[in-house]
Amino acid sequence: MSLAFATIKTLREKLDKKEISQEELLNYFINRFRKFDDKIGSALEIFSAESILKKSSHSNTTLCGIPGIAKDNICQEDRIISCASKILQNFHSTYDATVIKRLKEHGALLIGRSNCDEFAMGSSSEYSAFKKVANPWDLHRVSGGSSGGSAAAVAAGLIPWSLGSETGGSIRLPSGFCNLIGIKPTYGHISRYGLVAYASSLDQIGVMTRTIYDNALIFSAIAGFDPKDSSSANVKPKDYTSNLNGKLKTNLKIGFIKNALEAKEIDNEVKDAMQKAIKKYEELGAFIKPITFKSLDYAIATYSIITRAEAASNLARFDGVRYGYRNKNYSNLDEMYKKTRGEGFGDEVRLRILVGNYVLSAGHAEDFYVNANKVRQLMKNEAKEIFKEVDLLFLPTQVTPAFKFGTFKDPLAMDLQDYFTAFANLIGIPAISHPCGFTKEKLPIGCQLVGPHFSEDLLYQTAYAYEQSTEWHKMHPVGYED
Ligand code: GLN
Repeated sequence: MSLAFATIKTLREKLDKKEISQEELLNYFINRFRKFDDKIGSALEIFSAESILKKSSHSNTTLCGIPGIAKDNICQEDRIISCASKILQNFHSTYDATVIKRLKEHGALLIGRSNCDEFAMGSSSEYSAFKKVANPWDLHRVSGGSSGGSAAAVAAGLIPWSLGSETGGSIRLPSGFCNLIGIKPTYGHISRYGLVAYASSLDQIGVMTRTIYDNALIFSAIAGFDPKDSSSANVKPKDYTSNLNGKLKTNLKIGFIKNALEAKEIDNEVKDAMQKAIKKYEELGAFIKPITFKSLDYAIATYSIITRAEAASNLARFDGVRYGYRNKNYSNLDEMYKKTRGEGFGDEVRLRILVGNYVLSAGHAEDFYVNANKVRQLMKNEAKEIFKEVDLLFLPTQVTPAFKFGTFKDPLAMDLQDYFTAFANLIGIPAISHPCGFTKEKLPIGCQLVGPHFSEDLLYQTAYAYEQSTEWHKMHPVGYED
């Protein structure tokens, strides 16, 4: 049997039975990147087996010897952390992010840095300063963004799991485009110590895998309180696989967001897949309640203002003095800043910084940033009321299937890709995207379950019951066999 699409569970058994050694397994996946990644572009760097093994620790947990890849905005000690930007192209991290540290303590092997949109800004991974990420299901199409490399690598069976980051949908959208499971945790559930900040009131790290069980396994290793992150919530680590029994919670009520399917931009095949998925949940025993969720319509505008403002503030630190690239050809400090930032950042990042400074500027902050935060509060209030009536919400992950490269010339049109995802980040609640079908052209479609704060357990349990009664997760793109 090929190991390419094997689950972590299967790989564990093979390691335990000594059918394969850790080193062989590691080299197997390194070689898969060598063989297939030229055409996908999912990785910015794959480390040498020797250097990976030197940094690994031995433990007896399920993850010991299991390779994975982390998005290149998550710090790994002594490795480059570029955020897919020229400004950090040669910048090395001096420490491990808490998630990386925890994974290493569990014996997991961090194999490289995955490609993404520059500073995680984008929905297609076309804004990487280095190369684009193709979708393994159709190489003419994007893998989604911003964690596109993390998605494409797992989808093509180059690696069993990956870490991504989310500000407005960057894990779930690529998961939907690539037939994966992607979780965006509750704000504060996973430490962000060592995640390069984009918009701090929204950013979260999350996990991408091909099965729910594997996702819950990695999640269990990284979630929980971290004193190094001041936004970290006081939750104890626990085993999120323990509830995966194939059954739905008794009397589970799912709120089907009706207005999510009303917009004319929504692809018809996506709509059909949603009807089928919700029917499946009903067959499994869930009580389905159609609801209207007004916040969906406010999310993009609110999100755009808040992210630009916070990005302008966070990215001010890349000034040529403290980190990364500096233009050497200047006669005064102002010129050095201008040249460094002008050359170091790509167009999309510069645009967001400009807009961010504008919405924060004197005379405008009240109209934009302050108002956006008021709307955000209204969205939180609406969600709170809705969760008094239903346990979870259901809606699509994506507006359309994965689109072709170059489809969106207008950055605002690209922003609409987050229509179904950004509200969960604004409210701070967890959401999971899972496969639920394919278009006629064989492009994956994903749907989401969204729950109240810290309901990850219920999200995993519910999505697992669905997964066990469907075959979507067993479908893989062709052309990536050994
Ligand atoms: N597409 C969104 C943006 O560009 C989401 C990015 C993200 O979640 N990191 O802001």
